[in-house]
Amino acid sequence: MTEAAQGDVARMARAFLVAARAHIGQTRKGKAGIPYINHPAEVAELVAWAGGDVDTVVAAVLHDVVEDSETTVAEIAEAFGPQVARLVEAMTNPPEWEELPKIEMKLRQAQHMGQASAEARMIKIADQTSNLRDIAREPEAWEPMAAERYLEGAGRVVDACRGTSAALEAAFDEAMAIARQRLGGTLA
Ligand code: ZN
Repeated sequence: MTEAAQGDVARMARAFLVAARAHIGQTRKGKAGIPYINHPAEVAELVAWAGGDVDTVVAAVLHDVVEDSETTVAEIAEAFGPQVARLVEAMTNPPEWEELPKIEMKLRQAQHMGQASAEARMIKIADQTSNLRDIAREPEAWEPMAAERYLEGAGRVVDACRGTSAALEAAFDEAMAIARQRLGGTLA
């Protein structure tokens, strides 16, 4: 392996360790108790599948770390470089958004992602795809109205991100169709 390739592999492995530690004890919504780390792992896998470069895949692994732990963007920059830090920052909601009604938060996200880099938009589409797959895996964890609002918000965010990877957008559209089907007749 070249030195550069070895460096990339080491950075990727370190990203998984940092994310696993940051999300320790956190689980995904629902009774299944799925460890939180399954989500960034799925997002990273989707980004890699869609042709994302190493920085983008590393950032996908770390995309929820700043929002969900004490880790800062500055620490990410020091450990993984400025591009990874920029991407993680783009994926992090400002704390004041957490106070907003969910649909309003999604509108802000859509606005914000419309101006983001192609790499950030790629991670966001993969993120929303993973979230919809989670809904489809365990629809009973969701109150139907909340699920409907979530799907609508995710659709808007992804519409703002389109134009980076046709394959990834198709994967999102498929996840949306399956989530709607699994939620069944409860949705209009
Ligand atoms: Zn996420």
